[in-house]
Amino acid sequence: MPKILITSTSFGKKYKPPLEELRSKGYELKLNDLGRPMQPDELIERLADCEGCIAGLDHYTADVLQACGIGASGRLRIIARYGAGIDRVDLAAAAETGVTVTNTPTANSDSVADLAVGLMLAVARRIPMAHRSVCAGEWKNMYGVSLARKTVGLIGFGRIGRRVAERVRGFRCDVLVYDPFVEPEAVEQIGARAVSLDELLASADFISLHLPASDETARFLNAERFARMNPSAILVNTSRGEVIDQPALINALRTGQIRGAGLDAHAEEPPDVKAYEGLDNVVLTPHIGAYTEDALINMATGSVENLCAFFEDREPPNVVA
Ligand code: NAD
Repeated sequence: MPKILITSTSFGKKYKPPLEELRSKGYELKLNDLGRPMQPDELIERLADCEGCIAGLDHYTADVLQACGIGASGRLRIIARYGAGIDRVDLAAAAETGVTVTNTPTANSDSVADLAVGLMLAVARRIPMAHRSVCAGEWKNMYGVSLARKTVGLIGFGRIGRRVAERVRGFRCDVLVYDPFVEPEAVEQIGARAVSLDELLASADFISLHLPASDETARFLNAERFARMNPSAILVNTSRGEVIDQPALINALRTGQIRGAGLDAHAEEPPDVKAYEGLDNVVLTPHIGAYTEDALINMATGSVENLCAFFEDREPPNVVA
């Protein structure tokens, strides 16, 4: 039976049936021995004798695929992503080296959408700051702003963006959407409005990012775009850290160009927290968007379904490339 490397550190920990399914089918499993996403050289070493991989947040670069892909010099035939994002897999190199890539596209969308709204509320109502203050023995009024009836701007209107729209409509918010690849009718169906990026930046009280990381979206929010934002804006990023120019964001937070930020995704993970020192308008989380029991079950089940279908000569449900 094929040998499979499982790099996701949460796979099979809280929810065991998919891991047990792989074992009962006779797959030979190698688990992540580092307890963190792997670097390319670490992947190359561990994938050398593997036909398949259940992939966490590691970087499957062209070097990894050239060294391990079945069509190049290795044995790897499938990367089954445990999650939706495929920006850390070099898809062109995967195609060149004959490696199939699958993902679990909607497995964590609700969980990430929940967290995006949670971060809006955490920053707006200063919940972590209030918690720290009470724990420090204080009892003081901490004023914030409401989310209800505000204008929420969504950049990216795919699986997660749409779910955020549904949630904040429940808060009676006006929802503006910037996504040049989505028809305005699809936006209107959820009671939102498709607008230009300029209009969104200038008028949104909350801006939530739901676009992929790519060469085109690198540092999508830069100094010039922060300068065009409404000073009452709270920025939430549950997408990828690379889409924000971090020094420009920190400058915007320090100079009051925007009100605050809630960040789950960071260009460097873990981020250099010294950069945020002295700022009490920022809430940072350690890329936990997908970390709910519900999403973990969906991701584990979905990635194993894809992997098993592939090795049993059936079409995997979610082939990306
Ligand atoms: P998706 O592919 O369903 O949607 C992405 C949307 O972004 C698409 O509608 C696309 O048209 C749009 N888009 C692309 N380029 C754009 C641009 N330049 N400007 C505006 N819109 C653009 O993806 P999704 O599942 O909704 O995921 C959204 C983001 O969330 C991705 O970056 C993904 O990696 C990230 N994510 C994070 C976590 C987490 O743990 N925090 C978990 C899952 C996904």
